[in-house]
Amino acid sequence: MPDTRRGLLIILSSPSGAGKSTLAQRLTAWDPTLAFSVSATTRPPRPGETDGRDYRFVDDAAFKAMVSDGEMLEHAHVFGNFYGSPRGPVEQAIGAGKDVLFDIDWQGAQQIRNSALAAHTLSIFLLPPSIHELRRRLESRAKDAPETIAGRMQKSWDEISHWDGYDYVLVNEDLHDTEDRLTSIITAARLRRVQQPGLNAHVRRLQQEFEEST
Ligand code: ADP
Ligand code: 5GP
Repeated sequence: MPDTRRGLLIILSSPSGAGKSTLAQRLTAWDPTLAFSVSATTRPPRPGETDGRDYRFVDDAAFKAMVSDGEMLEHAHVFGNFYGSPRGPVEQAIGAGKDVLFDIDWQGAQQIRNSALAAHTLSIFLLPPSIHELRRRLESRAKDAPETIAGRMQKSWDEISHWDGYDYVLVNEDLHDTEDRLTSIITAARLRRVQQPGLNAHVRRLQQEFEEST
Protein backbone atom coordinates (compact mmCIF):
# COMPACT_ATOMS: atom_id res chain seq x y z
CA MET A 1 0.00 0.00 0.00
CA PRO A 2 1.42 3.44 -0.84
CA ASP A 3 2.47 5.23 2.32
CA THR A 4 0.38 8.32 1.64
CA ARG A 5 -0.56 10.16 4.80
CA ARG A 6 -2.21 13.46 5.59
CA GLY A 7 -0.63 15.64 8.20
CA LEU A 8 -2.32 16.01 11.56
CA LEU A 9 -2.71 19.31 13.43
CA ILE A 10 -1.81 18.47 17.05
CA ILE A 11 -2.93 21.14 19.49
CA LEU A 12 -1.60 21.37 23.06
CA SER A 13 -3.31 23.81 25.42
CA SER A 14 -3.15 24.33 29.17
CA PRO A 15 -2.96 27.11 31.73
CA SER A 16 0.44 28.79 31.60
CA GLY A 17 3.01 26.73 33.53
CA ALA A 18 1.28 23.33 33.24
CA GLY A 19 3.98 22.01 30.89
CA LYS A 20 3.08 22.61 27.21
CA SER A 21 6.47 23.89 26.03
CA THR A 22 8.35 21.17 27.93
CA LEU A 23 6.17 18.45 26.42
CA ALA A 24 6.26 20.01 22.95
CA GLN A 25 10.08 19.84 23.07
CA ARG A 26 9.96 16.22 24.17
CA LEU A 27 7.53 15.36 21.38
CA THR A 28 9.74 16.92 18.69
CA ALA A 29 12.68 14.93 20.11
CA TRP A 30 10.53 11.75 20.06
CA ASP A 31 9.68 12.35 16.40
CA PRO A 32 11.93 14.85 14.62
CA THR A 33 9.58 14.84 11.59
CA LEU A 34 7.00 16.62 13.75
CA ALA A 35 6.95 20.28 12.71
CA PHE A 36 6.45 22.84 15.49
CA SER A 37 4.21 25.75 14.50
CA VAL A 38 6.28 28.80 15.43
CA SER A 39 3.76 31.44 16.50
CA ALA A 40 4.13 35.14 15.92
CA THR A 41 3.77 37.23 19.08
CA THR A 42 4.02 40.81 20.24
CA ARG A 43 5.29 39.66 23.68
CA PRO A 44 8.99 40.37 24.34
CA PRO A 45 11.36 37.36 24.30
CA ARG A 46 12.11 35.59 27.60
CA PRO A 47 15.73 34.87 28.52
CA GLY A 48 16.87 31.91 26.40
CA GLU A 49 14.16 32.27 23.73
CA THR A 50 15.30 32.51 20.13
CA ASP A 51 13.50 34.46 17.42
CA GLY A 52 12.31 32.10 14.70
CA ARG A 53 12.63 29.00 16.91
CA ASP A 54 10.41 29.69 19.95
CA TYR A 55 8.40 32.54 18.44
CA ARG A 56 8.60 35.13 15.71
CA PHE A 57 8.82 38.28 17.82
CA VAL A 58 7.06 41.10 15.98
CA ASP A 59 5.65 44.52 16.82
CA ASP A 60 1.94 45.38 16.89
CA ALA A 61 1.95 46.86 13.37
CA ALA A 62 3.60 43.77 11.83
CA PHE A 63 1.19 41.47 13.68
CA LYS A 64 -1.88 43.42 12.52
CA ALA A 65 -0.58 43.40 8.93
CA MET A 66 -0.23 39.59 9.07
CA VAL A 67 -3.82 39.28 10.29
CA SER A 68 -5.28 41.66 7.68
CA ASP A 69 -3.30 39.94 4.89
CA GLY A 70 -4.98 36.64 5.87
CA GLU A 71 -1.64 35.11 6.90
CA MET A 72 -2.90 33.80 10.26
CA LEU A 73 -4.59 30.43 10.64
CA GLU A 74 -5.82 31.65 14.04
CA HIS A 75 -4.93 34.44 16.41
CA ALA A 76 -5.83 35.68 19.87
CA HIS A 77 -5.08 38.28 22.50
CA VAL A 78 -3.56 36.53 25.54
CA PHE A 79 -2.14 38.17 28.71
CA GLY A 80 -2.10 41.58 27.02
CA ASN A 81 -0.22 40.47 23.89
CA PHE A 82 -1.16 39.19 20.45
CA TYR A 83 -0.33 35.62 19.46
CA GLY A 84 -1.06 33.87 16.17
CA SER A 85 -0.18 30.82 14.07
CA PRO A 86 1.11 31.69 10.58
CA ARG A 87 -0.86 29.73 7.99
CA GLY A 88 1.83 29.16 5.29
CA PRO A 89 4.20 26.76 7.12
CA VAL A 90 1.23 24.74 8.46
CA GLU A 91 -0.38 24.22 5.05
CA GLN A 92 2.98 23.34 3.52
CA ALA A 93 3.75 20.75 6.23
CA ILE A 94 0.39 19.00 6.28
CA GLY A 95 0.27 18.96 2.47
CA ALA A 96 3.59 17.08 2.59
CA GLY A 97 2.13 14.57 5.08
CA LYS A 98 3.92 16.02 8.12
CA ASP A 99 2.19 16.56 11.46
CA VAL A 100 2.27 20.01 13.00
CA LEU A 101 2.38 20.68 16.74
CA PHE A 102 0.70 23.81 18.16
CA ASP A 103 1.23 25.30 21.63
CA ILE A 104 -1.76 27.65 21.64
CA ASP A 105 -4.55 28.79 23.96
CA TRP A 106 -8.21 27.72 23.96
CA GLN A 107 -9.26 30.56 21.62
CA GLY A 108 -6.80 29.41 18.95
CA ALA A 109 -7.82 25.77 19.44
CA GLN A 110 -11.47 26.75 18.99
CA GLN A 111 -10.72 28.68 15.77
CA ILE A 112 -8.85 25.71 14.26
CA ARG A 113 -11.60 23.29 15.33
CA ASN A 114 -14.11 25.55 13.54
CA SER A 115 -11.99 25.78 10.37
CA ALA A 116 -11.84 23.58 7.27
CA LEU A 117 -8.99 21.68 8.97
CA ALA A 118 -11.20 20.42 11.81
CA ALA A 119 -11.26 16.80 10.58
CA HIS A 120 -7.45 16.66 10.73
CA THR A 121 -7.12 18.13 14.20
CA LEU A 122 -6.14 16.36 17.42
CA SER A 123 -6.59 18.54 20.49
CA ILE A 124 -5.11 17.78 23.91
CA PHE A 125 -5.55 19.77 27.11
CA LEU A 126 -3.05 19.51 29.98
CA LEU A 127 -4.24 20.03 33.54
CA PRO A 128 -1.85 20.61 36.45
CA PRO A 129 -2.06 18.16 39.38
CA SER A 130 -3.02 21.10 41.66
CA ILE A 131 -3.14 24.90 41.65
CA HIS A 132 -0.35 24.91 44.22
CA GLU A 133 1.86 22.90 41.84
CA LEU A 134 0.92 25.19 38.93
CA ARG A 135 2.18 28.19 40.91
CA ARG A 136 5.32 26.28 41.92
CA ARG A 137 6.07 25.46 38.26
CA LEU A 138 5.53 29.06 37.12
CA GLU A 139 7.85 30.27 39.86
CA SER A 140 10.45 27.55 39.30
CA ARG A 141 10.60 28.40 35.59
CA ALA A 142 12.00 31.72 36.89
CA LYS A 143 11.65 33.44 33.54
CA ASP A 144 8.82 35.86 34.28
CA ALA A 145 8.62 38.84 36.64
CA PRO A 146 6.56 38.25 39.83
CA GLU A 147 3.73 40.49 38.54
CA THR A 148 3.66 38.53 35.25
CA ILE A 149 3.41 35.27 37.23
CA ALA A 150 0.59 36.73 39.34
CA GLY A 151 -1.27 37.75 36.14
CA ARG A 152 -0.87 34.26 34.67
CA MET A 153 -2.11 32.61 37.86
CA GLN A 154 -5.10 34.95 37.81
CA LYS A 155 -5.94 33.88 34.24
CA SER A 156 -5.32 30.16 34.80
CA TRP A 157 -8.95 29.43 35.68
CA ASP A 158 -10.16 31.07 32.49
CA GLU A 159 -8.00 28.64 30.46
CA ILE A 160 -8.85 25.59 32.65
CA SER A 161 -12.58 26.31 32.25
CA HIS A 162 -12.29 25.32 28.56
CA TRP A 163 -10.88 21.85 29.32
CA ASP A 164 -14.00 20.04 28.09
CA GLY A 165 -13.73 21.24 24.48
CA TYR A 166 -10.70 19.00 23.81
CA ASP A 167 -10.40 15.47 22.41
CA TYR A 168 -8.10 14.36 25.25
CA VAL A 169 -7.37 15.75 28.71
CA LEU A 170 -4.25 14.68 30.62
CA VAL A 171 -3.21 15.56 34.16
CA ASN A 172 0.49 16.37 33.80
CA GLU A 173 1.78 14.96 37.07
CA ASP A 174 4.78 12.83 36.15
CA LEU A 175 6.48 14.18 33.02
CA HIS A 176 7.55 10.78 31.62
CA ASP A 177 4.11 9.39 32.16
CA THR A 178 2.46 12.32 30.36
CA GLU A 179 4.93 12.02 27.49
CA ASP A 180 4.11 8.30 27.15
CA ARG A 181 0.38 9.00 27.07
CA LEU A 182 0.87 11.77 24.50
CA THR A 183 2.91 9.59 22.16
CA SER A 184 0.24 6.84 22.40
CA ILE A 185 -2.52 9.31 21.55
CA ILE A 186 -0.58 10.70 18.57
CA THR A 187 0.29 7.23 17.30
CA ALA A 188 -3.40 6.26 17.36
CA ALA A 189 -4.61 9.52 15.77
CA ARG A 190 -2.17 9.05 12.89
CA LEU A 191 -4.04 5.84 12.06
CA ARG A 192 -7.46 7.47 11.81
CA ARG A 193 -9.08 6.67 8.49
CA VAL A 194 -9.21 10.33 7.49
CA GLN A 195 -5.42 10.61 7.91
CA GLN A 196 -4.80 7.80 5.43
CA PRO A 197 -6.04 8.91 2.00
CA GLY A 198 -4.17 5.95 0.41
CA LEU A 199 -6.72 3.55 1.90
CA ASN A 200 -9.30 4.29 -0.82
CA ALA A 201 -7.02 3.12 -3.61
CA HIS A 202 -5.94 0.11 -1.54
CA VAL A 203 -9.52 -1.01 -0.92
CA ARG A 204 -10.33 -0.55 -4.64
CA ARG A 205 -7.39 -2.78 -5.49
CA LEU A 206 -8.53 -5.38 -2.94
CA GLN A 207 -12.00 -5.28 -4.51
CA GLN A 208 -10.53 -5.83 -7.97
CA GLU A 209 -8.42 -8.76 -6.73
CA PHE A 210 -11.44 -10.17 -4.92
CA GLU A 211 -13.61 -10.01 -8.04
CA GLU A 212 -10.86 -11.55 -10.20
CA SER A 213 -10.40 -14.40 -7.76
CA THR A 214 -14.07 -15.37 -7.52
P1 ADP B 1 3.88 26.08 29.72
O1 ADP B 1 4.57 25.98 28.38
O2 ADP B 1 2.59 25.32 29.77
O3 ADP B 1 3.72 27.51 30.18
P2 ADP B 1 6.37 24.93 30.76
O4 ADP B 1 6.57 23.77 29.83
O5 ADP B 1 7.23 26.15 30.54
O6 ADP B 1 4.81 25.36 30.80
O7 ADP B 1 6.55 24.36 32.24
C1 ADP B 1 6.59 25.22 33.38
C2 ADP B 1 7.64 24.67 34.37
O8 ADP B 1 7.17 23.43 34.91
C3 ADP B 1 8.99 24.39 33.73
O9 ADP B 1 10.00 24.78 34.64
C4 ADP B 1 8.98 22.87 33.52
O10 ADP B 1 10.28 22.33 33.58
C5 ADP B 1 8.12 22.39 34.70
N1 ADP B 1 7.36 21.15 34.43
C6 ADP B 1 6.64 20.83 33.31
N2 ADP B 1 6.03 19.62 33.46
C7 ADP B 1 6.37 19.18 34.69
C8 ADP B 1 6.06 17.98 35.46
N3 ADP B 1 5.27 17.00 34.97
N4 ADP B 1 6.58 17.87 36.69
C9 ADP B 1 7.38 18.84 37.22
N5 ADP B 1 7.70 19.99 36.56
C10 ADP B 1 7.22 20.16 35.32
P1 5GP C 1 3.71 32.30 26.59
O1 5GP C 1 3.74 33.80 26.63
O2 5GP C 1 3.78 31.67 27.97
O3 5GP C 1 4.70 31.70 25.64
O4 5GP C 1 2.25 31.90 26.01
C1 5GP C 1 1.10 32.43 26.62
C2 5GP C 1 -0.12 31.71 26.08
O5 5GP C 1 -0.29 32.02 24.70
C3 5GP C 1 -0.05 30.18 26.17
O6 5GP C 1 -1.32 29.72 26.61
C4 5GP C 1 0.21 29.76 24.76
O7 5GP C 1 -0.29 28.48 24.50
C5 5GP C 1 -0.56 30.83 24.00
N1 5GP C 1 -0.10 30.96 22.61
C6 5GP C 1 1.17 30.89 22.13
N2 5GP C 1 1.18 31.02 20.80
C7 5GP C 1 -0.11 31.16 20.41
C8 5GP C 1 -0.76 31.31 19.15
O8 5GP C 1 -0.15 31.34 18.09
N3 5GP C 1 -2.11 31.41 19.16
C9 5GP C 1 -2.83 31.38 20.31
N4 5GP C 1 -4.17 31.46 20.19
N5 5GP C 1 -2.28 31.23 21.51
C10 5GP C 1 -0.92 31.13 21.57
